[in-house]
Amino acid sequence: MPDFVGAVDQGTTSTRFMIFDRDGAEVAKFQFEHEQIMPRAGWVEHNPIEIWTRTAAVIQTTLQRSRLQDSDLAAIGLTNQRETTVVWDRRTGRPYYNAIVWQDTRTDEIAAALDRDGRGQVIRDRTGLRPEAYFSGGKIQWILENVDGVREAAERGEAAFGTTDTWTLWNLTGGRKGGVHITDVTNASRTMLMDLDTLDWDDELLSFFGVPRAMLPEIRPSSDPAAYGTSYRYGPVGGEVPITAILGDQQAATVGQVCFSPGEAKNTYGTGNFLLLNTGTERVRSESGLLTTVAYKFGDEPAVFALEGSIAVTGSAVQWLRDQLHVISTAAQSETLARQVADNGGVYFVPAFSGLFAPYWRADARGAIVGLSRFNTAAHLARATLEAICYQSRDVVEAMQRDSGVVLDVLRVDGGVTANALCMQLQSDILGVPVSRPVVAETTALGAAYAAGLAVGYWRDQDELRSHWAEDRRWEPTWSEEQRERGYAGWKKAVSKSVDWL
Ligand code: ADP
Repeated sequence: MPDFVGAVDQGTTSTRFMIFDRDGAEVAKFQFEHEQIMPRAGWVEHNPIEIWTRTAAVIQTTLQRSRLQDSDLAAIGLTNQRETTVVWDRRTGRPYYNAIVWQDTRTDEIAAALDRDGRGQVIRDRTGLRPEAYFSGGKIQWILENVDGVREAAERGEAAFGTTDTWTLWNLTGGRKGGVHITDVTNASRTMLMDLDTLDWDDELLSFFGVPRAMLPEIRPSSDPAAYGTSYRYGPVGGEVPITAILGDQQAATVGQVCFSPGEAKNTYGTGNFLLLNTGTERVRSESGLLTTVAYKFGDEPAVFALEGSIAVTGSAVQWLRDQLHVISTAAQSETLARQVADNGGVYFVPAFSGLFAPYWRADARGAIVGLSRFNTAAHLARATLEAICYQSRDVVEAMQRDSGVVLDVLRVDGGVTANALCMQLQSDILGVPVSRPVVAETTALGAAYAAGLAVGYWRDQDELRSHWAEDRRWEPTWSEEQRERGYAGWKKAVSKSVDWL
């Protein structure tokens, strides 16, 4: 058995390739960002060709720098930004249109129409989701309706749909020269097209969006020795390595944080924030604005479900301070700037750039900065941005506790923003529970590697993976109850100013 496992993490802002050893420790990593294309207000696209060339480049560079090769890898796992939609021509490998990114709101009207008749309820019951622009179904419909010739090509079986796992896998396994067209249950569960009971595409759901079955990938378990083929011999891996896992990024982080038991949860702080609570093999229906989603399905074992609180804008609000307002020049400076003040100076920032996701689901919301007085500075805005990340997380934690009855005694965190110690301290203060960050912060790639390694017997079982988890740092609450509730009341008031805007 080779000594290492590889993981491709095709994220929203960048793509990385990582190599892990038997202890789940990081051996090598390299990453590239790709362009965020914003042609109009509310539209966000990626160039799928750029995504694939960068994926190939990060795989090659990681292997070269670590002096490892295909024969050193026991398996490769794949994880990806979810919902982002690519439609391409199987004969040429050319996309018909840019990838429509999960944050893109152009399909708001398609989603709203579903709730004007009974279709919205069918979607809720069958998919665990809500009719929202966020999910892939409406994005596929938009491409079919707005790009010449795609519908006919889809009906003839020439046009293929995939989220970026499927696009990456197709290319990694040879593309036009025999690439496989497959996705996994976790990614399929984010399309509004899969029935959570059968774990298969559902004809009635397909009819809601006019999606021909011929363009859809096959759905496989998230971890399986034979599910996804091998890397193409002449591709970037340089040889045939079994690809044995696919998991959407948030599900991968759940696995990477070893949340294998019902009641275990993690919160990932990246472009957006995603809190997932393992609910076991039982589907829990949310009454509080959370989603029901597949956490993972390992081989023939039953699928494990999760309740999910999805927040669209957290780390990307920090990027906005950097790239649009120019009040900081690196994301890390958000901490230095915010530390110049002792509190938010009365300022609240609701970064509802794509409307508000969980638990509000208000497509009509837009960003709001409220409570300003002449006294305020950019430092207060930076502090309010970090607080917004934490208040939005409190909103979903409260919803999760209402739905599940599970009361968190500690919050397990990961993702890019958790490098910000002030933000993590604020999170603990705002929630009133300790916040714990593991040694391996790249839990998304780690989860994909875990699922891939389990499939080929590189790791024995989930207990072995649990034994790898180690805490790096913990933050304890310091605010009084009165301070906590006053702050949260201010946040709620700010949210009420951001909705009903459009
Ligand atoms: P993704 O997987 O969604 O691409 P990452 O986990 O790589 O995201 O995190 C990237 C996000 O984290 C960016 O939005 C960036 O603004 C934010 N970020 C990175 N470092 C910091 C920091 N020190 N403080 C605040 N935000 C940060």
